[in-house]
Amino acid sequence: MHEVRWQKLRRDQIAELAKRDPVLLLPIGSIEQHGPHLPIDTDTNSATEVAERAARQLDDGSALVLPSITWGLSPYWLPFAGTITLRPETILALISDIGVSVAAHGFRRLVIVNGHGGNAGIIAVAATLLADHGIRAYALSYWSLLGPELAELTPGDHGMIGHAGQSETSIQLHLQPDLVDAEFTSMTGWTDVAEIAVDPLRQVAAMPPLPLVEAPSGVYGNATLATAKIGERIVGLAAERLAVLIMGLPRQQG
Ligand SMILES: [Zn+2]
Repeated sequence: MHEVRWQKLRRDQIAELAKRDPVLLLPIGSIEQHGPHLPIDTDTNSATEVAERAARQLDDGSALVLPSITWGLSPYWLPFAGTITLRPETILALISDIGVSVAAHGFRRLVIVNGHGGNAGIIAVAATLLADHGIRAYALSYWSLLGPELAELTPGDHGMIGHAGQSETSIQLHLQPDLVDAEFTSMTGWTDVAEIAVDPLRQVAAMPPLPLVEAPSGVYGNATLATAKIGERIVGLAAERLAVLIMGLPRQQG
């Protein structure tokens, strides 16, 4: 299997790959509390895995995965232990610095692969700003690649990715089972997102979560329904579709 991780390649390999106009994937997640049962790095782990699997499915040289941005924008989770948030300007500066650097090596196409809902706005801005460095950038969250299938796979999250609910718990049971507290099956106090999912205000307005009001347990969605098998399906589907999306991106150089 060919190596897709930027940081594991050697200098001359990167220089050679740059000539083929590969798509760079930049995973970004968060370091934030994920309920009493999931590891703090859930979002970063999920985004990185989806990006690496997608890149591995493609021909050697079609896509490379940059070192993940571990942290995200999570100020609203600070009341819970473990959360480390970056300021928006830090994230923009970080992505811009990465853009300047990869542009210097001749890379022109980049997909930000996001694993944390709170990053959605900032990655759209970051993608816009990357144009200043001659990079055509795209920003997406991995779960958006699933479309209506997400609701079918994890009815306990009502079509949303939730937070430490059925979807994310399933993904972590698949990717990092040793880090999941097995007591999740009898967890109580999780927030049912049935109403949030159809809230008309949320259909038209960006609204940051208010965890202390909406989800004092730190869990949005029914985590008790999670299984590793569902997680495998979500990660597999997202990776497959990301690979297809990458293949369809217009080329930026001859
Ligand atoms: Zn998460």
